[in-house]
Formats: sequence, C-alpha cells, structure tokens
Amino acid sequence: MEKKMRIGGLKVNYQLTCSTRLWLFSNGISLEHTSPLVNLGKTLHEELFNKETKDIIYDEIAVDVIKKDRKIIEVKRGKQYREADALQVAYYLHYLEERGIRGFRAFLYYPRIRKEFEITLTDEIRRRLRQVIQNIEETLELPIPPEPKRKRACNGCAYFYFCFS
Ligand code: SF4
Repeated sequence: MEKKMRIGGLKVNYQLTCSTRLWLFSNGISLEHTSPLVNLGKTLHEELFNKETKDIIYDEIAVDVIKKDRKIIEVKRGKQYREADALQVAYYLHYLEERGIRGFRAFLYYPRIRKEFEITLTDEIRRRLRQVIQNIEETLELPIPPEPKRKRACNGCAYFYFCFS
C-alpha cells in the first residue's frame, strides 16, 4: 500500500527535473524569490488570470487556477512541453481522485508559446506517479542533498550559485 506523506505537485516536478532542488526546497532552503525566471512566471500568471480567478491551495496541493467549470490550469513559463510539468498536473488529478473527488479536467498552459495541453490520468501515468512518489520519499530521507549535477534545468535555477559557486 502506498505510504502517505505530504507531497505536492511542485515536488513531483522537482523530483523529475532535479532531486537536489527537491531536497533543498523541501528542507526549507528557498531562494526562488531571487530568481528572475521565477518572477517572470509569476508575472505571466498574474497577467493572465488575476482578473478572473485566484490561486487555490487545497491541503498540500497548490494549483495555479481552478475555474468554476472544474478546470485546473497550471501555467508554465517554459517554451516547450515537459513530462515533469505534465506529471505535476497529473498529480493534482491523482491527489483528488485518491480522495474520491472526480470530474476535474486538467490543463498545462505555456503562455509564451500560446499552447495548452490537456492532461488525463491513465493507468500508465498512475503507475509513473507512484514511482515518482517513491523516489521523492527516498530523496527526502537523505541526510544531505544529492550532489548537484549540471544539466539544462540549471539554467535560471534559483539554486545555481548555491550549487556551483
Ligand atoms: S542549479 Fe542545477 S543542480 Fe542545482 S538545484 Fe538547480 S537544477 Fe539542481
């Protein structure tokens, strides 16, 4: 049976893009307010949605937008579709489904390329999420952060100087 812990969609994304970032973020080391790219994401979100909706935080999932018609929207500043983003959104559906809440549709929106993708929960995605959740638990049990490794995700990461200076 799946072990229950507080996860959150962002941690799913971080585990898939960088377990070092997941560990730092989860242990309260937050530098995201210093990142211009993170601020760009916030600005995009505010420009798009502040007039019609507001951020929703339901227990441990923090969703960008839930519209009245049960539409969940996660906004990403990137210029291309990423599996980590899709699984983050899928996690919201999975989280609600586990609590008997159904009937939501989930979308991933990239305003800089004006593309929206609908994310649905399939058995394959549920299996993938269970694996990611297990990996998150393993990462968070580590006494120190995983060793940083240079990768594409480092570009613009708020922890860059923490990791490599
Ligand atoms: S700078 Fe790179 S290695 Fe360090 S937390 Fe960010 S993505 Fe991970």
